[in-house]
Amino acid sequence: MKILMVCSEFAPWAKTGGLADAVAGLSHALSAAGHEVRALLPGYAHLPLGTSSAALVTPLGTYAVAEIEGGAGARVFTVDLGELTGEHIYTGDERDAGRFLRLAAAGAAFGLDGWRPEVVHCHDWHAALTPVLQPLAGNATPSILTLHNVGYQGLFAEAVLRDHGTADLERALAPDIASDGTVNFLRAGLRTATRITTVSPTYASEILRPEFGLGLEDVLAARRGDVLGILNGVDYGVWSPERDPFIAAHYSASRSGAKQRNKTQLLARLGLEAGGGDPLVGVVSRLAAQKGIDLLVATLPTLLAQTRARFAILGSGEAGLAGELRRFATLQPRRLAFTEGYDEGLAHQIFAGADLTLVPSRYEPCGLTQMYALRYGTIPVVRATGGLADTIEHYDPGTGSGNGSVFRDADPGGLLWGLHTALAWYDDAEAWRRLMANAMTADFSWEKQVPQYEALYRSLAPASRS
Ligand code: ADP
Repeated sequence: MKILMVCSEFAPWAKTGGLADAVAGLSHALSAAGHEVRALLPGYAHLPLGTSSAALVTPLGTYAVAEIEGGAGARVFTVDLGELTGEHIYTGDERDAGRFLRLAAAGAAFGLDGWRPEVVHCHDWHAALTPVLQPLAGNATPSILTLHNVGYQGLFAEAVLRDHGTADLERALAPDIASDGTVNFLRAGLRTATRITTVSPTYASEILRPEFGLGLEDVLAARRGDVLGILNGVDYGVWSPERDPFIAAHYSASRSGAKQRNKTQLLARLGLEAGGGDPLVGVVSRLAAQKGIDLLVATLPTLLAQTRARFAILGSGEAGLAGELRRFATLQPRRLAFTEGYDEGLAHQIFAGADLTLVPSRYEPCGLTQMYALRYGTIPVVRATGGLADTIEHYDPGTGSGNGSVFRDADPGGLLWGLHTALAWYDDAEAWRRLMANAMTADFSWEKQVPQYEALYRSLAPASRS
């Protein structure tokens, strides 16, 4: 089938988090399954200009579209942002409204060299106005809107519609899209997309409730029959200890001894206490309340006092949380290392070198880091929510089944219980060997998820059934 992905991130070209990995992973897996996949993203300043460019007439204006990656896999195109091009992927201000309106308009009108999609697959609020703009582009192609995180909705002062849109666009929006002078891009997309998906089955049911729907539960509940949860996959071509170019020593499920060398190297790189015997807990995360990093901060004094664990933390985000983590790193530099910023290589080294990883999220649409950790034999300690609940099964020493430690409550007590439980298993060599084997042999590949997307696409565009 011919599938167009409309998105703000696509690894490795533009990445701030899991969205980039998820869209690229799905796109490449669909191409490998024989589909023609094209991805359209904004022409950020850091991206190459692309080879030949074409002028695309859209409901909002005529924009240049160019290809930056061709070949056997998914083909990647960018739409020129003109005067709205900024330094970063997200400017975090009103310019984002104009930039992503332009992306949506280009997605709605996309057709190049005789190629037109049979399904338009939009991702998150950045692409959510695509199905709203499709009728204005005379395009009746079925659309899918995938929710990677309902916490980010694209809220802007209503004036952006006049500044960057058209009267036709304003008329096309349902009356409840704007309230108190604020327009909600995601709500508009949820109203109009042919189908809605999200990135795990548990999150698909959670978002029907106010705690997780975050104000959109009414429209989601009204469209309940059109909402489907499909778990994200892992690109094991990028995330495998057998061939990871970022790590010191390669290893696999059947020969995991070399994991220890990665731990030694990581401890040395971060200036942590040497010695392979004591557990090392890795955290790679955005620093945000969603991720429960404040819970980690609240429990660190107890964890440092009551356990022998060392901590390797990599993250960027809220300044207050970063400040707290810096403080612990200064107080106990041999026990806790905090690297502030975004570092792809260090992320891989943490998954390879740590014994455990902690993901104490308040909500988690899917979560990729726990799945990456599994493949590296790094045991996840997670809160039971969203995709974490769908991928991590609490270990049962009686039967030997399970791949991590799962705690219920998003509070310091819950986190302490989850980590203490896992540390007790760590001290039991037999249990730990079993856990590592279970973790490393689990298969969360995209190849396993692709048939669900294929079935969905085919249900929308049955004419193309081969
Ligand atoms: P989210 O997209 O909500 O941030 P996910 O678990 O779905 O969470 O995906 C996070 C992705 O971003 C993973 O690929 C993870 O390795 C990466 N990541 C998060 N923070 C950093 C960081 N500071 N440096 C490098 N990679 C990071």
